[in-house]
Amino acid sequence: MQLERMYHEIILDHYRSPHGSGLREPFDAESFQVNPTCGDEITLRVRLDGDTVADVSHETLGCSISQASASVLTELVVGRSVADSMRVLSAFQAMTQGRGQVEPDEEVLGDGVAFAGVARYPARVKCALLGWMAFKDAVVRTAQVETAQVETAQVETAQVETAQVETAQVETAQVETAQVRTAQVRTAQVRTAQSRGGPRTDAVDPTEATT
Ligand code: ZN
Repeated sequence: MQLERMYHEIILDHYRSPHGSGLREPFDAESFQVNPTCGDEITLRVRLDGDTVADVSHETLGCSISQASASVLTELVVGRSVADSMRVLSAFQAMTQGRGQVEPDEEVLGDGVAFAGVARYPARVKCALLGWMAFKDAVVRTAQVETAQVETAQVETAQVETAQVETAQVETAQVETAQVRTAQVRTAQVRTAQSRGGPRTDAVDPTEATT
């Protein structure tokens, strides 16, 4: 009973002064999730700095469990690597969906252990998981944004390369044309020299031929 009261206090604390509440800029991806069984709604934004969760902000409308859970989530994942945050998410999900059979690890879950009791109320599990599902979805979207940027960059590089090849070909063609012209000029000079000098057929050098 003592532990349950403590957990209840933790949830109330997060509900009264939630972490990450209020949507912030900048962000890399946003997710909107609804829990129709309770009527909870969350809009959650994620900003990544490389592989680190740099910021999470959210606007949660709903029961105290959903709001407190989004607050705990923010506290737990900000500053962690994406991979680490997904491990915390898995642990939280395992605990809340474990029907009371999964022993929560406080070192991983922090204040998240306060939601251990939720596992006994299947109707509230979705409330507790709503923010986490929004977080997961937003992170996936962030990855998609990055993939799109990488793809765009690759297309641009390919275009630059094609352009360079084309320019090189044009330049080669110009050099070839120039060489052909020089050759033609030389032939013409040789012919002129031949007509001037009569039998001097050895005047192949154009510089020599013009003198
Ligand atoms: Zn709810």
